[in-house]
Amino acid sequence: MSGFDAPYVPGWDCHGLPIEQKVEAKVGKVGQKVSATEFRGLCREYASTQIELQKADFKRLGVFGDWDNPYLTMNFHQEANIVRALAKIYDNGHVTRGMKPVNWCLDCSSALAEAEVEYQDKVSDAIYVSFDVLGTDKVAALADIADNIAAVIWTTTPWTLPANQAISVHPEHNYSVVATEKGNLLLAADLVETALNELKLENNGILATVSGSELEGLHAQHPLIADRQVPLILGDHVTTDSGTGLVHTAPGHGLDDYIVGLKYNLPVENPVSGTGVYLDSAAVFAGEHIYKANPKIIAALHDNGHLISHTKIEHSYPHCWRHKSPIIFRATPQWFINMETKGLRARALADIPTVNWTPAWGQNRIEAMMTGRPDWCISRQRTWGVPITFFTHKETGELHPNTLELMETAAQKNQ
Ligand SMILES: [Zn+2]
Repeated sequence: MSGFDAPYVPGWDCHGLPIEQKVEAKVGKVGQKVSATEFRGLCREYASTQIELQKADFKRLGVFGDWDNPYLTMNFHQEANIVRALAKIYDNGHVTRGMKPVNWCLDCSSALAEAEVEYQDKVSDAIYVSFDVLGTDKVAALADIADNIAAVIWTTTPWTLPANQAISVHPEHNYSVVATEKGNLLLAADLVETALNELKLENNGILATVSGSELEGLHAQHPLIADRQVPLILGDHVTTDSGTGLVHTAPGHGLDDYIVGLKYNLPVENPVSGTGVYLDSAAVFAGEHIYKANPKIIAALHDNGHLISHTKIEHSYPHCWRHKSPIIFRATPQWFINMETKGLRARALADIPTVNWTPAWGQNRIEAMMTGRPDWCISRQRTWGVPITFFTHKETGELHPNTLELMETAAQKNQ
């Protein structure tokens, strides 16, 4: 209106969950009454209706724009170009597939991106659990105490215990065996006092103190699964801020656990389905929902003498931004844009200062995000959106050798 050529092209993001959930509310989930193709047709229709309603309102409000040629993410040529962009990212070597724990919403039945996760307070069961340590005679300082030592871990997610594959200790911290009325407990030396206070146990004497690194290679009996003995391993992620200094490690349910697990070749076992039910392959509680199993796990530990303490705590916990429900970490095969393999993080960080940031503090913020951001999970277990047009070998999971041509073919089909 001031005489400058400043075309305004209105744009709508038409894909994603909000549309899908509206359609789901009307016709049910894919595979029940409607096929995936019909479902996508209904999503497109619903999105179009919403766009027309909003467009009419914007016009009435006096917003000038190129209303006849809006930018819609569901325009076929846009979808085609999304596929082409992914092909380019793949061609540059940034796309990897991994079995990796990701943020998972049980209500969405889908992986969530970091940006879709928000923190809210939640009340959780907090339990101290003992694992009987085996083969302690191999460590001179512990030999006299024999097999009478229990490693104590602390967790607020009892349902992850069936996926426990190790106990992590810090290589440079000291660990003490303390005699108590509940047995000889192995705890980080710095935490003996606070932990015993919390557990309401008497310190009947320190029987031995060893460094974390001396514990590497010992094993402990899993308190719920008779035929599983898990190793004591070393990890720098172990802190002595709280808990016991011995960390319950389930590579299928936590990122730190996954990373330390890679070093020790621990199985990335995930016994939990997308809706939160233990799979048939789970060693215990198969067929039960994790939240229903939670109190049963605590009761089982109590009954077999491995529950040292059980309280409730309120803490900040990740939630789904749509459902406001607590999320879980769950390992599934996912596609990632890898931040490291082809130096994506380093390149992004090098380019950030070459941009003019308005306001200037935006630069710090984006730099901090880039520095800390984990690999970007691009997989979604949903129907309405632009699919990852990869063709994989049924058995090996390897990508088709002609992936680039196939992706271009897919793109052309869509325009
Ligand atoms: Zn959700």
